[in-house]
Amino acid sequence: MTLAYEIRNLTCRLGGREIVRDVDLDVRHGEVLALVGPNGAGKSTLLGAMTGDVPIDRGSIRLGGRDLAEWSSRDLARKRAVLMQANQVSFPFTVREVVEMGRNPWSGRATAEEDERAIAAAIERTDIAHLLDRPFTALSGGEKARASLARVLAQETDVVLLDEPTAALDLRHQEEVMLVARSLAAEGRAVVVVLHDLSLAAARADRIAIVERGRIVSVGSPAEVLTAERVESVYGIAAHVLTDTPDGHLIVVPHRGRSDTASL
Ligand code: ADP
Ligand code: MG
Repeated sequence: MTLAYEIRNLTCRLGGREIVRDVDLDVRHGEVLALVGPNGAGKSTLLGAMTGDVPIDRGSIRLGGRDLAEWSSRDLARKRAVLMQANQVSFPFTVREVVEMGRNPWSGRATAEEDERAIAAAIERTDIAHLLDRPFTALSGGEKARASLARVLAQETDVVLLDEPTAALDLRHQEEVMLVARSLAAEGRAVVVVLHDLSLAAARADRIAIVERGRIVSVGSPAEVLTAERVESVYGIAAHVLTDTPDGHLIVVPHRGRSDTASL
């Protein structure tokens, strides 16, 4: 099967600096790939290169077997959808209008019924039915994130790129967003998601890639990638990686010391 992405030797420069350096990465259909790593490591820049928004300095990105540069912007918008880190809607569109924007790339291609079905499914999956008539700009951070995710889902693309979709979300909605990511993968889509919560990544990603200073320093299954030594070397903080957990998913927590030794 064609890979969603084949990234070879990718280097991207911004502001005169190499922000992404010599990255090799494949993304498969049917998988959730988590990108993790410290603040400023280059995760968003790498994702931006994959969307076609950040210029490539050296190396190549193939999407669906074709060089990214060969894709027209219209075809690209039907192939991959992006949830950016900042939700950039500033004009006071209603939430419903924001979700409907996800159908723009399909105008002239999809029927009105297909548009309606896609929009209704996206609203249902992101739990925003009660927000539809509100102005997007008046939503909380977490509500904005879910409305933006609904727009991405309504776009119904093979490839879905999500930059910190869970950052502003409460516990339940974090879990729900990652279950949406899993269900997209189960439909055969490729999902790349930037996450900070290593335990959430371990539980819901098929593979994890760690980005450190522009390079991918490790990629593989959660158990392969998330060792205590690697977490410590990448994040500069000692961590416990717990393997014997109730649900069988790895849990990563920093060393915090015992509360009974804390001074009172
Ligand atoms: P992450 O998403 O991993 O936190 P980013 O990809 O956003 O990291 O940023 C990586 C580095 O690139 C940071 O040092 C950031 O300041 C820098 N950077 C990002 N965008 C630009 C830009 N447009 N011009 C110059 N430097 C940038
Ligand atoms: Mg980022």
